[in-house]
Amino acid sequence: VLKNTVNEIFTSLEALVSHPKQKIVVVTHENPDGDAIGSAIGLGEVLKNVGHDVKIIVPNDYPAFLQWFSSELEILIYERKKNRCKTILQDAQVLFCLDFNEPKRTARMERAILEFSNQKVLIDHHPYPSDFCNLMISEPGYSSTAELVFDVVSRINLSGYVNHDAAEGLFTGIMTDTGCFSHNISRPNTFQVVAKLMEAGIDSEKIHAAVYHNFSAQRMQLLGHCLAEKMQVFPEYRAAVIWLSQKELQEYKFQPGDTEGFVNYPLSINNIVFSALFIEKKDYVKASFRSKGSFPVNEFSREHFSGGGHRNAAGGETKISLDESVEKFKQLLSDYKHQLLETTI
Ligand code: 5GP
Ligand code: MN
Repeated sequence: VLKNTVNEIFTSLEALVSHPKQKIVVVTHENPDGDAIGSAIGLGEVLKNVGHDVKIIVPNDYPAFLQWFSSELEILIYERKKNRCKTILQDAQVLFCLDFNEPKRTARMERAILEFSNQKVLIDHHPYPSDFCNLMISEPGYSSTAELVFDVVSRINLSGYVNHDAAEGLFTGIMTDTGCFSHNISRPNTFQVVAKLMEAGIDSEKIHAAVYHNFSAQRMQLLGHCLAEKMQVFPEYRAAVIWLSQKELQEYKFQPGDTEGFVNYPLSINNIVFSALFIEKKDYVKASFRSKGSFPVNEFSREHFSGGGHRNAAGGETKISLDESVEKFKQLLSDYKHQLLETTI
């Protein structure tokens, strides 16, 4: 979905970043994941290497398994440094919005993003973007925003600026959004980009271990608890659900990011194509949905849990209680029985 014609966009973008030393801000969605942080670092490093003054701002804190990057770019957390972030945004000439398709995905930063009056550029891979940027590069065919950032940077002749630190970010984005290259990959381009990132000298094994072999013992025990006690499987609907209360999270000393990936586990069960995870937060319940094949969890989430996302990975939230959320989910399964049974993998 492109607001301008493709060539126009890249010509404008090239002109935008060819001005000397611009103040540039890169923002991502709330609860930043590997693709949000990785693509922001990747693009931020490239723009820094070109000579710009770059800051990354994220709405809230992000997990420890994303805090090991070689890049020394500053990543500011909006909810902790609101005034400083506001000043930085006021002074910025260009704002890049990465890995989200509508301003509300940035939660507490939504207003600041809508009110930003200079050049706003979107680079994202979620379907159905809303029209909130001057330049919109929205490509749902891409595995990750990180893969798209690499192609955009190449298209405006800046691939020579993808150094080791930029490549580390972009590789992390692709690796995490594809579940270590297991899904979301429909074209050779994903691996072609990865090959070019490897040429920049990254250590892919080190990056994999930093992200996936970096959990606390409590996190592993919480996962065990989920799978043993809190997972309900509905073979007749090819579906499964896991739910966690605040009390359980506290018991296992929950840290941000600890439940990342939990929702994928039920999909490893033979013949299960739809998985849901409900987590009780302070004043709402966070929902995560994953599917295999043709079952569109973004539509399911949009219709029933005020959310959205990709066909096979979506999220949402609700103000009803945790128990009511799980009950609502179970009730809905029968409405989707036909679609679930018809799902092709
Ligand atoms: P997760 O389950 O990991 O939070 O999110 C999975 C996917 O759904 C991500 O691509 C994310 O951007 C999207 N997503 C998560 N929560 C929401 C939400 O509340 N609203 C929308 N529109 N998308 C979401
Ligand atoms: Mn992404």
